[in-house]
Amino acid sequence: MGKHPKGLPILFFTEMWERFSFYGMRAILVLYITQETIGNNPGLGWDNTAALSLYGWYTMMVYMMSVPGGYIADRWLGQKKTVFLGGILIAAGQLTLAVDNIYAFYLGLVLLVFGVGGLKPNISTMIGGLYKEGDPMRDAGFTIFYIGINIGAFGAPLIVGYIGEVYGWHLGFGLAGIGMILGLIGYMWGQRHLKEVGNFVPVKKIEGTDKSVPLTRIEKDRIIVLLISFLIVIVFWGAYEQAGGLMNIYTRDKIDRVILGWEIPTSVFQSVPALFVIIFGTIVASYWLKRQKKGKETSSIFKMAIGTIVMGTGFLMMTGATIEAETGGKAMLIWLLLSYLLQVIGELSLSPVVLSFITKLAPVKYASIMMGAYFAATALGNKLAGVVGSLAESTGEFEVFTGIFIFCVLIGLLLLAFFKKLKVLTHGAEEMYH
Ligand code: GLN
Repeated sequence: MGKHPKGLPILFFTEMWERFSFYGMRAILVLYITQETIGNNPGLGWDNTAALSLYGWYTMMVYMMSVPGGYIADRWLGQKKTVFLGGILIAAGQLTLAVDNIYAFYLGLVLLVFGVGGLKPNISTMIGGLYKEGDPMRDAGFTIFYIGINIGAFGAPLIVGYIGEVYGWHLGFGLAGIGMILGLIGYMWGQRHLKEVGNFVPVKKIEGTDKSVPLTRIEKDRIIVLLISFLIVIVFWGAYEQAGGLMNIYTRDKIDRVILGWEIPTSVFQSVPALFVIIFGTIVASYWLKRQKKGKETSSIFKMAIGTIVMGTGFLMMTGATIEAETGGKAMLIWLLLSYLLQVIGELSLSPVVLSFITKLAPVKYASIMMGAYFAATALGNKLAGVVGSLAESTGEFEVFTGIFIFCVLIGLLLLAFFKKLKVLTHGAEEMYH
């Protein structure tokens, strides 16, 4: 292992706290909205459908706002300042939610949507900016960063969820805000290690006119490859993001959660994928590195194809669960765990890989907007996940899980059939990293 830049731990902890705040708030959002308006921890008293609909719009919008977030960074502020601004908006949003008032609720959500849009894509682009062109440590850096994301995602539902449910929703939201403030303090403190990264790069102008310098053919080709890979990303998250919806409800209703006489609460399983990322992150990354050293295929597109297939196979485990539950009423826990395990192994071959891939391929002046476009694809994936998950009610869980499995494997195979052609369009952007 070579040396990673000093800025990496700074961005690692900032994003860890941002995700702590994001996933903590997400864990209690629907619970708060659907909780009755009376009792000692009252909520908003909405019905499930209205709550899930708001949840779906919210998770879509936070990622959608990455597009203007990226644009603002490319055009005016640079990534570093936009991340800071985003963090302030997030903290303000969480603290607004801590106030028990319906207007504060809506205002808080709006602030969060803009805040995450400013922070999330730009901090990811900054990771790429820490590494020089061709630095083979870049992929490993993204894996480490991704582990940070998941440390936040792992702890949040447990801590914020517990505080929110037991001591009060607004305290939970406030706690998520304090997490973000801690992240911002670390970010400010670490500025000395971020001098070279995330600064505003002015777009070169053709002298005497208002036009921007046009893109070269190579740049255009690379953008095409990125846009195609974003289509895969929609499918990927459309399947994977079942975790918070259909998988969650299925776990509650059909999975036997009793171990040694104790029934594990459903929400605990929301932390399982993040835990698997923390455990398997470096293992999967070193597997790919070993393959690379042996001279075998390891291009990002290839990894994405394999990742989609492996993640899809996770849903075959859920097919197994539905068959067992059909006869016995409940299915064994192992199906769920195996399903999450395969989904995460797939995720690790795709998600950090795509982040890194974008920073290798996107022309510098469009780096943040391309990252924004990636998160827009994520947004569509999240929305798709909601639509697909809700089909289970009418068509049945067996059909939905099996359908996801078949579709993902087919998309992965299709990508395998074409990855060599797509590689040509990258014009060697990755070969220099070996
Ligand atoms: N779990 C990752 C994160 O929170 C990926 C999210 C996504 O792109 N859907 O950053």
